Order: sequence, then structure tokens, then C-alpha cells
Amino acid sequence: DFQTWQLAMYCRKAKLKLTMKSILEEYKCGKVRLVTMLEESDDPVVKTVKPSIKTGRKWKVAEAIDEAKECLRLKEVIGQTQTDRKGLGSSSVKWWSKTEGKEKRDMVIEEVRQREDVRRIQKAVQQPQQGQWTNWDSAMQRSLTWKDIWQMAPLRIRFLIRSVYDLLPSNANLVRWGKKDDPTCPLCHGRQTTEHVLSSCKVALSQGRYTWRHNRVLQELASVISTAKGQSNPPSPSFTIFTTEGGARKWCWRSNTASNQRKGLLDGCDDWEVSADLPEWDEHPEVIRRTTLKPDIVIHSPSTQQVIMVELTVPYESRMEQAHTYKKEKYLDLT
Ligand SMILES: [Zn+2]
Repeated sequence: DFQTWQLAMYCRKAKLKLTMKSILEEYKCGKVRLVTMLEESDDPVVKTVKPSIKTGRKWKVAEAIDEAKECLRLKEVIGQTQTDRKGLGSSSVKWWSKTEGKEKRDMVIEEVRQREDVRRIQKAVQQPQQGQWTNWDSAMQRSLTWKDIWQMAPLRIRFLIRSVYDLLPSNANLVRWGKKDDPTCPLCHGRQTTEHVLSSCKVALSQGRYTWRHNRVLQELASVISTAKGQSNPPSPSFTIFTTEGGARKWCWRSNTASNQRKGLLDGCDDWEVSADLPEWDEHPEVIRRTTLKPDIVIHSPSTQQVIMVELTVPYESRMEQAHTYKKEKYLDLT
């Protein structure tokens, strides 16, 4: 499906981003750059001739520029708005009226690019099957560089792209493509969609297939944390350890300024112990074992009496919000 591939590869807001630029977008931006440069030219010949730039039938460069400029003026009127998850004020704002020359031209080109992106998203939303990813609000965008692509096994990259755009040969899809008559799942006889195979087949669940996947991810995560704990910054003097007479009880007091200064979650302690709910890992510390909770990973610092618990869920992308709420409720008593 060529259209889907185009969307998959060129949309900069897609959940799976490939580092390729649309040839059409580059063509349009090239024309925009040329026209805006000619517009501002001081050359008397250019000024009198007013050269017209040839483009396709559908897309008119002058219209695109006017639209982009209109938008930039409007944005200045509205003022700064936060559209992404970056912290407030983290991106510097350029105002249309306050820029000139090349900077102004770059703003027009960037605006044209953004409008191209919006156009692609609108197209994707209109495709009910392959456009499912547009509903994955909680999923983080994943960028694939050429290096990633070359390092991945071809089958893996195929699977990754096909799963995001629902192009895997599930029985439901095979029926849709006219290659099969029966859309049912051989395990549970429900309708076998990609979502069903990856996250909602009851038989697969009872056979421990999802647990196996969960534990493989957990293993990977626990290893990374184990390595990271050795790289945390040393304890800061604002951690104060109080001990009762005879040392029967110990507790830690951390001033608010200390927590503000902390850059990483593991900073400030150098005795982190990592345990995971996996057979080959150390069991959780006594303080956790006393409870009925079974967190996936516990990071514990005996000297500062701090515990960081990690819960891992591998939900289907459209159910991320739901899974998060469920896990939050599990630990509600602790907050
Ligand atoms: Zn099933």
C-alpha cells in the first residue's frame, strides 16, 4: 500500500519515524525558498520582471507562501502556546514582525513543512485501518535512524513497521485482503487481529505467552538499571541520617533543596541495591517482602532508607492510559 508507506515514512509526528524526507516536501520548500528570495531581491531587473515560478497544477507556490505568512502573523497575535510536552519556555519563540531577511524566509519554509505534516496526519486519520496509531496518545514517538535500520534484522524492522500500520498477516487482515475465508484465532476462536495476537487472546494469556514477553522486557530493564546505579552521583551532605539511642531505628531526612538539586532519580546515594521479580535475580528487600505487593523491580538504598519501585506493563498502545491507571490504583495506599 503505497499511500500508507508514504505516510509511514515521511510524517514527522508519526509514532514510528524514519529519517527520510519527502521528495515532494523538499520540492515545495525549494520553490518557496526561491520565490521568497526573489520577492526580497534588490535587483532592479528582478523587481520589474516579477518572475513567475512554475509548479504543478494542484499546488501553487504563491498561495502556499501567502497561507504560511498568514499563519505566522496569526500565531504572533495569539501569542506563545504550548503544543508539545517540552517544559514551558524551553523553545525560543521567533516573532514574524521582528525577523527579517533569511530568518523570515526560514520561518516561511518551516511553516510550509508544518502544514505538510498536518496534511499527512489528516490523511492518516482518514484511513481507519492503517491510521490506528493516530489514537495512541500516550505512546512516545520513536525515531529510527539509518543506523538503527541497518543494525536491525530485516525481519524485525519489517515486523515493527507492519505492526504499527496494522499490515501484519493476521487472519482478520488475510480475510480483508481476500487470501483467507476464516478470520478466527486458532487458539481461542475469537477474531484474530494484530491487537488480539499481541495482547488480548485469553488462551495465549493462560499459556503464559504474555508473561514470557513481560519477563524478557523486565530482564532487559533490570540489567540497564543495575548498570546505571553505578553511575549515579555521590551522596549530597543534605541527606541526614538520624539514629535512635542504641541504633534500633534509623531514618533519613532529606531537605527539600536536596531533592530539587537531584538531577537523576538515583543521584544522592551510592548504595543502591537492585532486585527484580525474576527467578534469576536477588529477591526484594525485607521491607517489601513484608507487604503483599510484588513490584517488578525494587531499587533500595539501605543507608538513606529510600525505595524506588518499578512496575512494568506491556500493554497494547491504545490501552496505555488504562494500564497506567490500573497500576496507579494498585499502589494508591502508599501515596
Ligand atoms: Zn485468540
